Amino acid sequence: MNYDQIFDQAIDRLHSEGRYRVFIDILRNKGAYPNARCFAGHNGPKPITVWCSNDYLAMGQHPKVVEAMEEALHDVGAGSGGTRNIGGNTHYHVDLERELADLHGKERALLFTSGYVSNDTTLSTLGKLLPGCVIFSDELNHASMIAGIRNSGCEKRVWRHNDLAHLEELLAAEDENTPKLIAFESVYSMDGDVAPIHAICDLADKYNALTYIDEVHAVGMYGPRGGGISERDKAADRITIIEGTLGKAFGVMGGYIAADEKIVDCIRSYAPGFIFTTSLSPVLVAGVLASVRHLKGSSTERDAQQAAAATLKTMFRNAGLPVMDSTTHIVPLMVGDPVKAKKISDILLAEYGVYVQPINFPTVPRGTERLRFTPGPAHDEAMMRDLTKALVEIWDRLEMRLAA
Ligand SMILES: *Cc1c(COP(=O)(O)O)cnc(C)c1O
Repeated sequence: MNYDQIFDQAIDRLHSEGRYRVFIDILRNKGAYPNARCFAGHNGPKPITVWCSNDYLAMGQHPKVVEAMEEALHDVGAGSGGTRNIGGNTHYHVDLERELADLHGKERALLFTSGYVSNDTTLSTLGKLLPGCVIFSDELNHASMIAGIRNSGCEKRVWRHNDLAHLEELLAAEDENTPKLIAFESVYSMDGDVAPIHAICDLADKYNALTYIDEVHAVGMYGPRGGGISERDKAADRITIIEGTLGKAFGVMGGYIAADEKIVDCIRSYAPGFIFTTSLSPVLVAGVLASVRHLKGSSTERDAQQAAAATLKTMFRNAGLPVMDSTTHIVPLMVGDPVKAKKISDILLAEYGVYVQPINFPTVPRGTERLRFTPGPAHDEAMMRDLTKALVEIWDRLEMRLAA
């Protein structure tokens, strides 16, 4: 057995398809984000502008968040020191769960070390608790939901993206008495489109199914208090479990679910990914608390983000760039080829100081490789004009078509 050869071949496959991942080495400049430093060259750090961060609202540098973390660090030290069950249940964790339950109008919330873990361990645990459960999954669901569904051992039915007729067809095909769970996202982060939450809940009511929504790309950003699309659409009370991250718009780290007391108690008591791991550092949780509280009371960041996204979409469209049909803050440009997507990204970084990561398979389907821009309150119009000009120049140079 030649192990080396197997590993070499695995890496070679990625290179030959043009989707070998290269991580860009950066440091963000607190207070000046989206300005950052890049350590790609050999002549010391080079200034860049970050266009692909999921710190959507720049809360990672918000003075309230930074101060709360400094204070916590000096008050209680660095780590939590244990699992939630054994020494690691800090008062910050208890407060944050209360704050998140209130954000979604649910009885309780439960913290995890990341959004990925929250999806994986909640879905797998839920599936195991419901005997014979069938899980209905939107075809564009995130890898962490897919992992959770697989780990649940349940039968899975994949419905075509946002296709209600297909979902209903699959629901109707199951026995009335089979436990059913519909799992989907609110904002799909690679296309920037939104799920029809009420219509999905109507089907859930009709076929007596539970619902699970991933609001990772919506919490903090939609709804009057940042409760996500389910808050904006006044549908939160119709959803069984709402899941979110604390690492994107909230700017720090961690994940959570919010649901009824009974369900949260079950997950808390049965989910290995919650039980057998050290709880989040209280320093992180203190930062999240400040962020969630701030965004509950302030729509300034949300409004500025929506305005920035609208401006950038208009600039791209006016320049003839192939901006995709996003109805949200996500601004994707279709490239349709992994090698070209990587090449454009490389030129942007090397020649224009623009950092945007190419999005390739398996994050998106093959043939739909793209560049995904996430403008926010800190990206100004001059930056957007420079970016648009750079993209048009590169599109010309690579002899790619611009719309008339
Ligand atoms: C990023 C992401 C997650 C995982 O959240 P993390 O907190 O980054 O682990 C889950 N779902 C979706 C749709 C995501 O994009």
